[in-house]
Amino acid sequence: MMVNKRTTMPDPVGYINNIHVEPDCIDHPVTRRILARAKKIPVKVVSSEKFSIPDLGSYPGSLTKGKRNLLLSKNRGKFFKPCPGTREYICCDYQVLNIGMNCAMDCVYCILQAYLNNPHLSFFVNIEDLLAEVSEAFAQDPKRFWRIGTGEFTDSLALDSLTGLSRGLIEFMRDKDSAVLELKTKTSVIENLEGLDHGGRTVVAWSLNTPAIVANEEFRTASLEQRLAAAARCASWGYKLAFHFDPIIYHADWEQGYSETIARLFAMVPREHIVWISMGCLRYLPALKKIAAYRFPKSKFFHEEFIEGLDGKARYFRTLRVEMYKHIYVQLQQHAEAKTCIYLCMENNEIWQEIFGFTPDDRGGLPKMLDAAVGESI
Ligand code: SF4
Repeated sequence: MMVNKRTTMPDPVGYINNIHVEPDCIDHPVTRRILARAKKIPVKVVSSEKFSIPDLGSYPGSLTKGKRNLLLSKNRGKFFKPCPGTREYICCDYQVLNIGMNCAMDCVYCILQAYLNNPHLSFFVNIEDLLAEVSEAFAQDPKRFWRIGTGEFTDSLALDSLTGLSRGLIEFMRDKDSAVLELKTKTSVIENLEGLDHGGRTVVAWSLNTPAIVANEEFRTASLEQRLAAAARCASWGYKLAFHFDPIIYHADWEQGYSETIARLFAMVPREHIVWISMGCLRYLPALKKIAAYRFPKSKFFHEEFIEGLDGKARYFRTLRVEMYKHIYVQLQQHAEAKTCIYLCMENNEIWQEIFGFTPDDRGGLPKMLDAAVGESI
């Protein structure tokens, strides 16, 4: 099934056509709360005999249908794991909190298309187990500082108007002195964040790109203006903010596009609230190219030249990556406060040296740099 043109709805929940509930979740209070909010969305209980999720047809067409079919289930595995960074590149030592899988939005470059083996949009209702697991991890390693994110296998806020999860997580984190939670999103769904005592322990983050990439390659997401307006509101509620230029994509007039986005960012958002800004050039699993070509035949950016990185992912040639990082960094530097940590995602020391004139090791390592950026501001 091909996906063609950009559509925008303020809340990605509006794209969900069906909710499927696993039988052992139907009486869970979180399920009841979600179903009460879902109102008009048809609900089906998954057959207890087969205990199987509904068939969405063959892959990769099933990916498109999966985004409209929400499965409420329990996570029977672990919720809390280190981010799957690779040894070959410098990673930020992030902890992933797995709240669910897949996303109701639809970005052409989304790695989840090639990564997940289940096309359904899913949400884990056993939040009590999630919080217990995090509490236990904190207790076992009390000297550690944790940076935690929920936006690895899904978007942190895409289902929030339905699940209300952000409120529970933000309130849980409020008094955790050794941790900070990052909610990373491409939505403007921030209503649940208003009026909370967050204790400075939650960073709200947006992925940003050029107006052309947002319009042509990030379907169902909030516009750049909507994202930045949402960020400004979160700042007015006292939240720390972060921004991710990731993936940076080579396309016509990219210099002008990234310059425009950076100018808009600093015109709309108070810079003193920004704790970190990352930059990461497009990288992808080889399988993704074929899937994206099938689902988004009008997209052309995969036709550029790529090399295989040490992690097996395709990436631009070094000269192009450096050129793009330099262009963006120079402008970020002009606007950002000195305390904002501007960093590269999944690059090596040589590229760091070329862009910033130092390596993370010179400053105690990337995790320490990020801890300091957020720790200093709490
Ligand atoms: S918003 Fe993020 S998780 Fe959702 S489709 Fe886009 S890249 Fe994937």
